[in-house]
Amino acid sequence: MKRATPHSTGSISPPPIKRKIDSTTTSKAVATFFKPASQRPPENLIWRIVENSLVVGRYNPNEKTQDEPKLPVKVAAFDLDDTIIVANTGSKWARSPTSWKWWDQSIPGRLKQLHEEGYAIVFLSNQGNVSLKDNPKSLQKDTPSLVNLKNQITSIFRQLDIPLSFYGATAQDRFRKPRTGMWDEMLDDLGLQAEDAVDVDGSFYVGDAAGRAKTDQRNKDHAPSDRHLAANIGIRFQTPEEFFLGAAPEPYDHGFDPLRHLERAEISQTSSEVPKDSSTAMTFTKNDPQELVIFCGSPGAGKSTFFWDVLEPLGYERVNQDILKTRDRCIKKTRELLAAGSSVAVGTIPLFISAFHAPGGGQVETN
Ligand SMILES: [Mg+2]
Repeated sequence: MKRATPHSTGSISPPPIKRKIDSTTTSKAVATFFKPASQRPPENLIWRIVENSLVVGRYNPNEKTQDEPKLPVKVAAFDLDDTIIVANTGSKWARSPTSWKWWDQSIPGRLKQLHEEGYAIVFLSNQGNVSLKDNPKSLQKDTPSLVNLKNQITSIFRQLDIPLSFYGATAQDRFRKPRTGMWDEMLDDLGLQAEDAVDVDGSFYVGDAAGRAKTDQRNKDHAPSDRHLAANIGIRFQTPEEFFLGAAPEPYDHGFDPLRHLERAEISQTSSEVPKDSSTAMTFTKNDPQELVIFCGSPGAGKSTFFWDVLEPLGYERVNQDILKTRDRCIKKTRELLAAGSSVAVGTIPLFISAFHAPGGGQVETN
């Protein structure tokens, strides 16, 4: 039987008009899709830069937002280099996703265990070799040293795969250990600003810059700054050997330890007429009608308090670099006051602090 030929009059749809459909897929997404999973950047890792100085990476492998932390939170804080990881290449500073290995094989398991026990786990690391300077040729782009650091941290986060935060201080400022700026930033980020939000007794910091002398197995520690960071925060300190390997504590040298000076003041006061209970009140006397006092201390050391409590009542005029800003203005003002017959007290940040904080240097944080 012959098939009926279809009607040719108007019942057939015309061919569809070719439309260009805009794809929502970006070339970057396509490139990411074809990358092996191990090389893809985790989308649950968020990077930011604080005050053009502090590098912060926060990783949360869970898709869901985390429950509110149960307060008070125990914080397990670690240094990074020579504590969590060591370089597996010739250069300690050649950072890449494959340029490192665990400081000890027990570390991933131990950190996961701490996470299961409810600790917030953070890495607080001085990263003076990372530059964040704007490159005018590639605005908005990370510098090569920052790219390398991020790649390395990303690979560490991926291997651990638990909620983690990384803080890297790249400048000589309030974030650099043994200063506590990274810890303060972490408290803000995790919503732990309230006074009793952190379990101080249950929290600790582990680092290799502990002020230890050379041994057969190890060089002298390059600094005591990790030990001092814990002291400045007010939490327990352990070396990686003590924390991960259960080693006995070793002797160490604080370098400069302000507590020793307070102890010495207490001893000297037991034999003088100064009341014992004012143990921290170092005596200061004005011996001549006109004197120039120069007192040095890092920001927050108490220079202003010392001036108002001790020097101002003795009639000293104050020259303060915070107010006058430049060294030249301080010198000019001091000359003027001395010429007028006044006694002058100059509070300043000692220049040698920056020298002490040079890479590989120690600390003078608490003078
Ligand atoms: Mg270290």
